[in-house]
Amino acid sequence: MIREIPEIHLNDGLTLPVIGLGTYLLKGSNGVQSILGALNMGYRLIDSAYNYENEGTVGEAIRKSSVPREQLRITSKLPGRYQTYDKAVTTIQESLYRANLDYYDLYLIHWPLPRQDTYIEAWQALIDAKKWGLVRSIGVCNFLPEHIERLEKETDVKPSVNQIELHPFFNQAQQRKWHEQHNIVTESWSPLARANQLLQNDTIKQIADRHNKTIAQIILRWHYQLGAISIPKSASFARQIENISIFDFFLDEAEMSQISSLSRPDGRINDQDPAIYEEF
Ligand code: NAP
Repeated sequence: MIREIPEIHLNDGLTLPVIGLGTYLLKGSNGVQSILGALNMGYRLIDSAYNYENEGTVGEAIRKSSVPREQLRITSKLPGRYQTYDKAVTTIQESLYRANLDYYDLYLIHWPLPRQDTYIEAWQALIDAKKWGLVRSIGVCNFLPEHIERLEKETDVKPSVNQIELHPFFNQAQQRKWHEQHNIVTESWSPLARANQLLQNDTIKQIADRHNKTIAQIILRWHYQLGAISIPKSASFARQIENISIFDFFLDEAEMSQISSLSRPDGRINDQDPAIYEEF
């Protein structure tokens, strides 16, 4: 049975489903089977990256599936080592060749790397790639408000999406509010905190029992009600179905705040602070 997933409008008119499939570590023929299974059950947004070395796996799953290309939303990301204008252009082309696709729906700068200070020229390459039809929508990951302000100031183009670490242990309240004020959609990476101790949390367990749902479903419903797109990764069909079966119940205000209050300043999974973290 295909599950219907609601959609969100981006500031450039493209729509994205509110839940997609994360694909970090989904590679090779097992990865193809996992992604194909997800497409068959209703996932339409697939999140990959040049650095995950699985754009080929994603492309193969798309070719094997019977879902029309125009219904899909495929994301990839530019790595830090290619953040110059020319390298960014050829990397986007290489990403397309690897997946054997004509276009990506969403292409993101993976990290701002402020010390390297080249994200403006990388952004210019994404702007041009969009003009040339290589990508439909462009955005960023892990950008702080000050980085996005610079993009806008120097190119007049703002991102449609900012994909950031977001889960109940790190709820990003200020950054989300800033996105909302600037009409940028928040996309949550590691929405389940990579299945760390968050999935044993007593507070969320009580809420889950009340609704007869799993802890993961409560967390993903929390993301949805916050207005964020989440991209949980699962290799398992059972957990993939579980993760998109969240549209038949509602968390009330008290429950939403109880979950949000689990956030703590050191709640990041691996302490990756975008102001200083570097990933090439
Ligand atoms: P995640 O989605 O929070 O968690 C994935 C882990 O949760 C896997 O171990 C998975 O195991 C398990 N899981 C999934 N659904 C579950 C469920 N219902 N119950 C119990 N366990 C469950 O972590 P993530 O993969 O780090 O983040 C999601 C995606 O975000 C990535 O795959 C990637 O696409 C993207 N990402 C982006 C950035 C960035 O810098 N832009 C950084 C990190 C991640 P099974 O596979 O065994 O189900």
